[in-house]
Amino acid sequence: MIKANYPIDKFKDIQTPFYYYDLDTLRTTLEEINQQAKKSDFHVHYALKANVNPSVLAVIKEAGLGADCVSGGEVEAAIKAGIAPSKVVFAGVGKADWEINLGLDNDIFCFNVESIPELEVINELAASKGKIAKIALRINPNVSAHTHHYITTGLSENKFGINMSELDQVIDLIPTLPYIKLIGIHFHIGSQITDMTSFQGLCVKVNEIQNTFLAHNVKLDHVNVGGGLGINYEHPNHFPIPDFGAYFKIFQDHLTLQPGQTLHFELGRAVVAQCGSLISRVLYVKQGTSKKFAILDAGFTELIRPALYQAYHHIENLSSELPVELYDVVGPICESSDTFAKGFSLNQTKRGDLIAIRSAGAYGEIMASQYNLRKLPIGYTSDQLRPLTPKGE
Ligand SMILES: *Cc1c(COP(=O)(O)O)cnc(C)c1O
Repeated sequence: MIKANYPIDKFKDIQTPFYYYDLDTLRTTLEEINQQAKKSDFHVHYALKANVNPSVLAVIKEAGLGADCVSGGEVEAAIKAGIAPSKVVFAGVGKADWEINLGLDNDIFCFNVESIPELEVINELAASKGKIAKIALRINPNVSAHTHHYITTGLSENKFGINMSELDQVIDLIPTLPYIKLIGIHFHIGSQITDMTSFQGLCVKVNEIQNTFLAHNVKLDHVNVGGGLGINYEHPNHFPIPDFGAYFKIFQDHLTLQPGQTLHFELGRAVVAQCGSLISRVLYVKQGTSKKFAILDAGFTELIRPALYQAYHHIENLSSELPVELYDVVGPICESSDTFAKGFSLNQTKRGDLIAIRSAGAYGEIMASQYNLRKLPIGYTSDQLRPLTPKGE
């Protein structure tokens, strides 16, 4: 069984559970993104909501990605990390006044606007500052992402975005709002999308929508197709880097840009998921009537994805090379949904073994809670846990 290459000796001294980020994997992922995006001159914004660990964010900033934010807190985190406001986009169905003001004060690149009332509020707040807000319309293209229903966002009966049926009305409204400048259109159809035909379907819709704008004689500087590229949760050791080449090629081949238009992406999960693991210890192995339970010191308070959307994570016992056995891998929280996997093959497991729950870099640490008054997990990076080089070498 192939296992990830972890500094297990270092892990032994750290209080579990904790997050571990392999920055080599992250850097390789970012190099691949940049190399593939460069071919077509695409702009990539990192979706901060996947992970805002400062060390992770620093590496992403270093690679030159922009930021995609969905709250004022994320706009602040992006700017604090040193990402230029001119590369910050700000989406979200419920932007509060202070969040809009924060974006205006920092002259961010673009507000991705999700409703008519929001357009009117941004216009008003920009007016009181004597500024012009640059906006893109988030349009709901009614494309199925073929993903879990909790993480699909592009169908028409969805709280996200402006519906196609409202489009003509919105296009007519914008010229009446003097403190708003329409610079683009924005889409985001869902997350953990592995079927590239969903993105192809998005391209077809975007082309149609572009024609609607052309028919109204409205010029757009950019198109933003959001994020959602999935990763391989089953085989993180074999497929640590998503196929960004194939992903970008879909848009290169199927999306028609107007002269001078730029194409923007907002990738979250695909950037950070594979670099992160939740490291935990086995507290007890309990023999049930027909199965064994491996009870960990991590639960859904540290990683909620399995409980929230039945997500699969690959699990490795880092301390054992014994033959595999089947375990239900569970946490200590007083809820039955606190289960990471059922009937999972682990090398024979005992109390004290270190367990890695893989592909946990996205929507892991950031979604941790203190339920049951548990402590929030700390995130460590491979750079921090590397043996120190003696001075002078
Ligand atoms: C969550 C989100 C993203 C990133 O989604 P991933 O599936 O993590 O790539 C991009 N854009 C918007 C608007 C989002 O809400």
